[in-house]
Amino acid sequence: MNPDERPPLHLRGALKFAPAPESVPVPIAPRYGHFIDGRFVDGDDPFPVIEPGTGQPLTQVASARPDEIDAAVRAARAAFPKWSGLPALERGKYLYRIARRLQDRARAFAVVETRNNGKPIRETRDVDVPLAAQHFFYYAGWADKLNYAVPGRALRPLGVAGQVIPWNFPLLMAAWKIAPALAAGNTVVLKPAETTPLTAMMLAELFQEIDLPPGVVNIVNGAGPVGGHLVAHTGLDKVAFTGSTGVGRNILRTLAGSGRKLTLELGGKGANIVFADAALDQAVEGVINGIFFNQGHVCCAGSRLLLEESIADDFLARLRRRIETLVVGDPLDKNTDIGAINSARQLATVQRYVQRGVDEGAEIWQGAACAIPDRGYFHLPTLLTGVQQSDTVAREEIFGPVLVVLTFRTPDEAVKKANDTEYGLAAGVWSEKTSKLFDVAHALNAGVVWANGYNLFDPASPFGGIRHSGFGREGGVAGLWPYVEVA
Ligand code: NAD
Ligand code: MN
Repeated sequence: MNPDERPPLHLRGALKFAPAPESVPVPIAPRYGHFIDGRFVDGDDPFPVIEPGTGQPLTQVASARPDEIDAAVRAARAAFPKWSGLPALERGKYLYRIARRLQDRARAFAVVETRNNGKPIRETRDVDVPLAAQHFFYYAGWADKLNYAVPGRALRPLGVAGQVIPWNFPLLMAAWKIAPALAAGNTVVLKPAETTPLTAMMLAELFQEIDLPPGVVNIVNGAGPVGGHLVAHTGLDKVAFTGSTGVGRNILRTLAGSGRKLTLELGGKGANIVFADAALDQAVEGVINGIFFNQGHVCCAGSRLLLEESIADDFLARLRRRIETLVVGDPLDKNTDIGAINSARQLATVQRYVQRGVDEGAEIWQGAACAIPDRGYFHLPTLLTGVQQSDTVAREEIFGPVLVVLTFRTPDEAVKKANDTEYGLAAGVWSEKTSKLFDVAHALNAGVVWANGYNLFDPASPFGGIRHSGFGREGGVAGLWPYVEVA
């Protein structure tokens, strides 16, 4: 049946949920500082941290001074000989303890992450927190196997790693950075994003609880300049950065010729390619997940939908009908599919891009199962159709719940359009024909290609980009290489 003939689900009364807010009370301190050499320090120049779901101040966080960043790097340096000298089995035990304690406190971490970031509790509960724990479990398992990873060769840690992470997966990115570094015997200075410092500071509490030796992980808070100061610090042996391509370029310049190792995980403009022979309803779910998971604040988001022309109208009808069932609203409500945009600034950026798309001739369609709340930072799931390959919205990363739709006629054309981007992080292909999946996947220029799925993550599987999406891998055995030297 043509899906357009039926009224949307919510008009048929199928989607009336009573509110189901998360009820675990979680203490949030009035102010956070830094974590240096195993101790919490107050720090100076506090600035407000806003709760995106309400738009109201949640707490305050300090901004690290150069001497505080210096103290953090010195503490990591001082801790390095002992930490790297521990029998690998003993280092592994600390990582197992971190993973288990994270599981014990999963609910508190999920609530704090949701309040600080704006993403739905369903996602923090089912994805961010369990995946973060899995990363610590996974690299705990590597700690005592490093000497067997390359037959006949020993792996040595690099020393002190400076790590800067973004706001879209605050806890998960901290886990991706810290777990492999520690497993290999490095020590760390981490800088969380300025809007989302809270779960990193909870991790610091957890490190104290499990008696992680002081100085092995240090956390300094603050905005871009603090990150800039950290990555330029000559006391580091290694820098790992996840964030925007523009900042990544600056860091590349800063570190050129320094001899310090660098990995960059940057932006993306992922293509999700749906062939006419795909299981369409399954593909609709994958496309939804690809662009609306985490409000579209996903570097590997499937933000460009490439539809085979013969099914484009049918597919878009199914997609619109599915989008009309999505609940946008209170991030702490367990029914919520799409939560709040992380900041007023990011919301303005998304709105600007949507307007730009319309100005350049795109047709806009928005829908949801409900109206968006009248406070906090929300954006309706948005489709832009009639988009040309050369339009801004088809080329630049929007980093929001906005899907750009293009069409193609042949597999060749699909591949050409998908690869016509400066990025190269991720892509998806949907088809019932396995040979087509393999052919197209191999022809795509992207670090990760999903077949008949999207946004699937596993700690054992490497993740990372090519071209302007950066270099280096996180996850899997490949995620260890940026933190070791093969002796
Ligand atoms: P951003 O680059 O502005 O910020 C990321 C981090 O870098 C923050 O901690 C920020 O304080 C810090 N920073 C800012 N300026 C800096 C500087 N000059 N030197 C050092 N550090 C600096 O990015 P954003 O807007 O916060 O995050 C969104 C971007 O991150 C998107 O482009 C997204 O694609 C990218 N991202 C990539 C991945 C990945 O794995 N490839 C994952 C998540 C996000
Ligand atoms: Mn930024």
